[in-house]
Amino acid sequence: MTQRILLFFLITGGILTISSFVRPTTTQTNRKKVIGTVIIDPGHGGSDHGAKGRFSYEKDICLAVSLKLGAVISKEFPELRVLYTRTTDSYPELHDRAKFANENKGDLYLCVHVNAARGKRVAEVVGYKTVSYYTGKGASRKKRTKRVPQYKYTNLPSEAKGTETYIWGAHRSEDKELAIIENAPMLQEENFEKNYGGVDVNSPEFIAISLLKTKQYFKRSATLAGFIQDEFAKVGRVDRDVRQRGIGIWVLQATAMPSVLVETGFISNPEEEDYLNSESGQEELSACMVRGLRNYLSWLEQKQQPEISSTNTPTTANTRSFLEAVEDKHKLTKK
Ligand SMILES: [Zn+2]
Repeated sequence: MTQRILLFFLITGGILTISSFVRPTTTQTNRKKVIGTVIIDPGHGGSDHGAKGRFSYEKDICLAVSLKLGAVISKEFPELRVLYTRTTDSYPELHDRAKFANENKGDLYLCVHVNAARGKRVAEVVGYKTVSYYTGKGASRKKRTKRVPQYKYTNLPSEAKGTETYIWGAHRSEDKELAIIENAPMLQEENFEKNYGGVDVNSPEFIAISLLKTKQYFKRSATLAGFIQDEFAKVGRVDRDVRQRGIGIWVLQATAMPSVLVETGFISNPEEEDYLNSESGQEELSACMVRGLRNYLSWLEQKQQPEISSTNTPTTANTRSFLEAVEDKHKLTKK
């Protein structure tokens, strides 16, 4: 019996060794094929400050995180070309950002933003006031009085925190407010009519066309967004999940490549604003995104694997099932 188990482990070891020899070469050749150029788009910039915190602007955090993100990508994946839509405090118009990405044949569009939520308005009863009112008509008309509470309102900062990653998707009415905030600079651009035509970006027709356009990139965008959110959750960021937004993100719609928009955290939350502005926070955020990217690349490579190597190469699934079989055997012999 023990001899048989030993044999199983020897065979398993052999397969693992073969696969570790096979893997690096296929990974290298595949990586060039799966992706070549990454476009990083730091949100807002210049006179468009984005969301505002107690002491900082969204545009500056977007730029700082984006530059760190790009530097880590270049270091860890030297074979990738990293391009930025801006590297200074400037505002490239949104259609120019999309054009830049498309003309440079980007394979991936990473858009970095910072979230904001409106604080709570809390009412507190501070006293009562007597007011008069009338009931009835004609002769039965009577004057009455009643006591009504008097309120004092206080604005509390929002407690919303965490990261969420957006991909282009179907129209969802609850995203309207955020969409208006993100689209506002576009509507103020000088040549809005010329560059975007007379198009109503919130019209169902526009959304339908956009949806069609990006359908082929949907799976990839959603997968990458999921991997990124997983990494944020692992380091303890509040995971607000992958969300779809059908309106508001012009760049996600206009870029002909898988694209995601990461809302890194809430500037409206004092604790989060400190984190977003800190070196360690920015490093953590960019590291998470890079790990998400790494998983995405592996996923793309695996997707291509069967087409490239169809014969005799042990796949991960094969090795795993074999290991499981060995484990089962082991359990049986123990009994
Ligand atoms: Zn933004």
